Amino acid sequence: MTPPAYTGRFAPTPSGYLHFGSLVAALASYLDARAVNGRWLLRMEDLDPPREVAGAQAGILSTLESYGFEWDGELVRQSTRHAEYAALVERLLNQGLAYACTCSRKQLEGHQGIYPGTCRNAGHGFSDAAIRLRVPELVYRFTDRVQGEYQQHLGREVGDFVIRRRDGLYAYQLAVVLDDAWQGVTDVVRGADLLDSTPRQLYLQELLGLPQPRYLHVPLIIQPDGHKLGKSYRSPPLPVDQATPLLIRALRALGQALPHAADYASPGELLRWASQQWDATRIPRCLTLAEAQLR
Ligand code: GLU
Ligand code: ZN
Repeated sequence: MTPPAYTGRFAPTPSGYLHFGSLVAALASYLDARAVNGRWLLRMEDLDPPREVAGAQAGILSTLESYGFEWDGELVRQSTRHAEYAALVERLLNQGLAYACTCSRKQLEGHQGIYPGTCRNAGHGFSDAAIRLRVPELVYRFTDRVQGEYQQHLGREVGDFVIRRRDGLYAYQLAVVLDDAWQGVTDVVRGADLLDSTPRQLYLQELLGLPQPRYLHVPLIIQPDGHKLGKSYRSPPLPVDQATPLLIRALRALGQALPHAADYASPGELLRWASQQWDATRIPRCLTLAEAQLR
């Protein structure tokens, strides 16, 4: 059997409800998949229970349903995948590709978020320590379908990064790479706030011998005050009864053709219509909130 030509996914974190920025990302990944009759998976990235908001998982699922999204197969929760993450961390430690770091937050101050390599050769024990992956002194680059060429020198711009936190929780970078490969994801369509995570993910894919998906980072929506629309900003959750106007607003943010009222009778039909018109080359690279609403 040949594997499906296109498998996309939406991977929300339940640290909050879906907001307009998440709708834009979900819509882009959904339409990009459905336009080519591809599969579209849903994965709950519930790796961080302390930051999870009670009711957010259920809220995300019911919002997606009321906005007409239909995912293929069962929802996958990353909280059920700890054994796989643990095995991978252990393997990386055994191979000497990762090491224990006991640096305190204070010790890491003044390095602009770039880990200075303090514990690289310290030989700390693995318990009560963060685990960091060694990065090579190399540039990782890729061509994003919307954002174009993007590159990062991992050693100079990122440094050895955390794959398991000191409190035992697994890092997003590790889980996302493992799960995208495990689920056969061919196309990652997500918010541009994750553009600068991609080179770390490319390195992990290379290290683990996993295929590299295509990437499309949708424009980040910037608030008038310069804040990105997201969790830290507390943008309001999407109202359940406003599905069609907000889907149309999200289509506009993505530079897509807009439907007439006669083209749909439900959010699901609107999505089907939009998937037939989908043209990823029309997506703008960035967007202000005013543009997203008024253009
Ligand atoms: N869980 C991540 C988020 O909500 C998205 C991960 C991804 O799409 O790679 O920001
Ligand atoms: Zn350290």
